[in-house]
Amino acid sequence: MQQRHGKLATSQSNSTTLMRLGLPVVMLAILSHCAPTADKSLSGSQSSFLDDPRLERGVSWQLAEHRKRTLSALEYDFALSIPNELSVPIRGEATLRFQYNPQTSRALATGVPAKGDETQQSGKSPHSIEFPLVIDFVDAAKRLDSVFVNGAKSTWSSSEDHVLIPAAMLEEGGNSITLAFEAGDAALNRSDDFLYTLFVPDRAHFSLPLIDQPNLKGSVAWTISAPSDWQVVTNSSELSALVVKSELAQENQTTRAFARTEPLPSYLFAFAAGKFQRETKTINDREMTMYHRETDRDKVDANIDEIFDLHAQALAWLEDYTAIPYPFEKFDFVLIPSFQYGGMEHPGNILYREASLMLDATATQNQILARASVIAHETAHMWFGDLVTMNWFDDVWTKEVFANFMAAKIVNPAFPEVDHELRFHTAHHPSAYAVDRTAGANAIGQSLENLRYAGTLYGAIIYQKAPIVMRHLENLIGPNVLREGLREYLEDNAYGNATWPQLIALLDSKTALNLDAWNKAWVYEAGRPRIVVTRDGGGELSPAQFVVRQEDPAGMGRIWPQKLSLLAITNNSQTMHSIELGADAMVIPKPAGDASAAMILLPNASGIEYADFMLDPQSQTGLLHDIGSIEPAVARGAAWTTLWEEVQEGRLGAGLYLETVLRELPAEQNELIINRVLGTLGESYWLRLDSRARLAVSGPLEAMLWREVESTLRDTSARAAFYRSYRALATTDTGVERLIRLWEGDEKVAGLPLSEADMVSLVSGLALRRVDGSERRLDEQEARIKNTDRLARYRFVRPSLSDSDEARDALFTSFANADNRSNEPWVLEAMRNLQSPLRGGAPHLILPALNLVEEIQETGDIFFPGRWLDATLGQTSSKRAAEIIGGYLANNPQLSPRLANKLLQSADVLLRLNTENYPVESSPQ
Ligand SMILES: [Zn+2]
Repeated sequence: MQQRHGKLATSQSNSTTLMRLGLPVVMLAILSHCAPTADKSLSGSQSSFLDDPRLERGVSWQLAEHRKRTLSALEYDFALSIPNELSVPIRGEATLRFQYNPQTSRALATGVPAKGDETQQSGKSPHSIEFPLVIDFVDAAKRLDSVFVNGAKSTWSSSEDHVLIPAAMLEEGGNSITLAFEAGDAALNRSDDFLYTLFVPDRAHFSLPLIDQPNLKGSVAWTISAPSDWQVVTNSSELSALVVKSELAQENQTTRAFARTEPLPSYLFAFAAGKFQRETKTINDREMTMYHRETDRDKVDANIDEIFDLHAQALAWLEDYTAIPYPFEKFDFVLIPSFQYGGMEHPGNILYREASLMLDATATQNQILARASVIAHETAHMWFGDLVTMNWFDDVWTKEVFANFMAAKIVNPAFPEVDHELRFHTAHHPSAYAVDRTAGANAIGQSLENLRYAGTLYGAIIYQKAPIVMRHLENLIGPNVLREGLREYLEDNAYGNATWPQLIALLDSKTALNLDAWNKAWVYEAGRPRIVVTRDGGGELSPAQFVVRQEDPAGMGRIWPQKLSLLAITNNSQTMHSIELGADAMVIPKPAGDASAAMILLPNASGIEYADFMLDPQSQTGLLHDIGSIEPAVARGAAWTTLWEEVQEGRLGAGLYLETVLRELPAEQNELIINRVLGTLGESYWLRLDSRARLAVSGPLEAMLWREVESTLRDTSARAAFYRSYRALATTDTGVERLIRLWEGDEKVAGLPLSEADMVSLVSGLALRRVDGSERRLDEQEARIKNTDRLARYRFVRPSLSDSDEARDALFTSFANADNRSNEPWVLEAMRNLQSPLRGGAPHLILPALNLVEEIQETGDIFFPGRWLDATLGQTSSKRAAEIIGGYLANNPQLSPRLANKLLQSADVLLRLNTENYPVESSPQ
């Protein structure tokens, strides 16, 4: 079948796009490496690694495998001294104990007695020819003071980010190595009065010397000296009876020793220290402590019970589902201001972004659900990821999918009023599609040659598409088989590691189905099927029947097997059909006894189906007119997603889409749908309409949004959602004047109190709109902020709001220095302001931002490169921006395929809107 629409999903269509952008042919060859691959990983295909445990920057798969075969039973003691001043380095001592088994490596490497065995026979040490012991540590030459092996001072050398210790120093069997060092700050997130570790995926060795790979787990015992007025929280409980005075401690410092943990992968080693407040509660006989820095006591009181209850509910649910009691010694969590992620699942020391848990009174239903979800997600990781860990980061998606999949199940009982099937759909499908429809789409399962690239594997495909695929699997094999399989998988691999192929083999053994083809298509192929609805036969007198078939948008003939719920809607009836769609087209007959020709066929009525659903023209028109009447709500929500995808794929103009939004949204009562549709307005308005069309629609759009803000018939959370859209989109004089009055306090909305964060957003928006008096208001706002963390963020971001071109450019230029990028959420907020369409964007900063992205991938945390690109490219549709991207790709052939994919994901709308065949939207109709 020929493609009729410009879907960009493969190397082939990459080429098409790039040719349209005028890129040289050489780029096409480079980008062909971005093509999806079914090649699982390096595992199993490498036979020579035992002879060559490849030493390069980062942990290569070969090095990891070599160490896995020669080392076991790891234990760590880390003693660290955190000084009172930020500028003074943290000093430490690490002791590693392990079993060394060089014979395993030799025998496996050669299959015959190794050279070492010959020397053994001749009475020489067997160790002298062995590969050295490799410990990972960045900047060892500068920061490592001494190495003692089994009590004797040892020579050592460094290579890239590794310390090499001669094998001759080691004993076969038990060994103990002690290293004195200065800790690197790169993974310690140090501020004046607090710090926290964030080691995922391979950043532990940026700060500490250790074996930094997930399948060599080790127990860890922390001893931490810190200023006496600081709290210290680690993976395990403080041994108060064993408080010791460490040699490393300074004056006014307390040294605390902590219990030895269960075996953990290095990316879960964690501590936080600093000025935190403690809140302790006991629920179901489990004591939990929350550490936080919120100074507004009312806000803490308004949130605290819910935060603890959600954790307790998640723990109880997981213990029941897995039939395994909580597998770690204690359960505490720390709320970090401006944390890089929503949360991070360190056992005993979960870190959260403070604002995700401490909600304002104006929180939307989405924020309330998102809080429950992130708590359930991190708690689920205690079993999925922490107790059983992926063998290598190529399977990192398995821990994320189970965390999200379980989170969706856990959150349900706490919110009986929410339609959870719809919630699953709105939380997963739109984000997954936003990547899977692009030329940079990646498969769920990706190969990984070195842990230093592990960060590039993360994204919406792991977090949003994978849980959808897991739901498909659960539907296929049944929830009981899945749960039974997961229980077995957790029990068999407790405190160890496992792979996705192991789990699939286990599930396969429990069902008569062959999961292989399903697994290959859904886990190891990038992109999504296109499911096409056409009308067959029919006419005025003879009503239509429908034909539903799937095609591969890439033209590669791939088939994604799945079940579909099709909703056939006529003037008089709604009929649900269930089909299993494989390679063959399926015919859907007309509803019996209904001769109406005005039928809509909606192919994804359960909300779980996953594809680019291409509607026939009559169904599309039908949805545009009658979408509000579709029941149940999950089918209506999925229909909104389908309409939006029609816009994305160039089959529906944004003007027509917005016309339907303006008409239908005021009548919509489902808050999940309201939030979802509101979430499409910014792109529709700023990227898909020209200035004339925007001018025409802005008045009616603002009027509709404000009516709903003031509606007394709606809940506060729904009104807050409309308010946020209004604040983001108001551009008319009436709208801007209202924003000024709201900030000045001259206008209030009954029942919708605005928090400090709301006020900061308001004043920032006024500055971006270049409203007179903005500098004065920004000064006043700064004076009003009492919380030191929020004030620091405000001051950092403020130059991005300046009316001075020089001040804004100087802020951007400062980001070239990695130290100035260390607080990533602040940097991203500033970048979004710099590129805000409210001020016309900053096209001259696009190329410099792209030029930094490779360095950012090396120095930043895992989500930073993609978010940096989103902030830079996600708010413009200008031809100039598209040309800059084309030029950048042409001039940077060395760009890694995974980073090139991230760029194509972030620039998707921009690139599509600037390809010559794309329909240009001129005005709303
Ligand atoms: Zn996670």
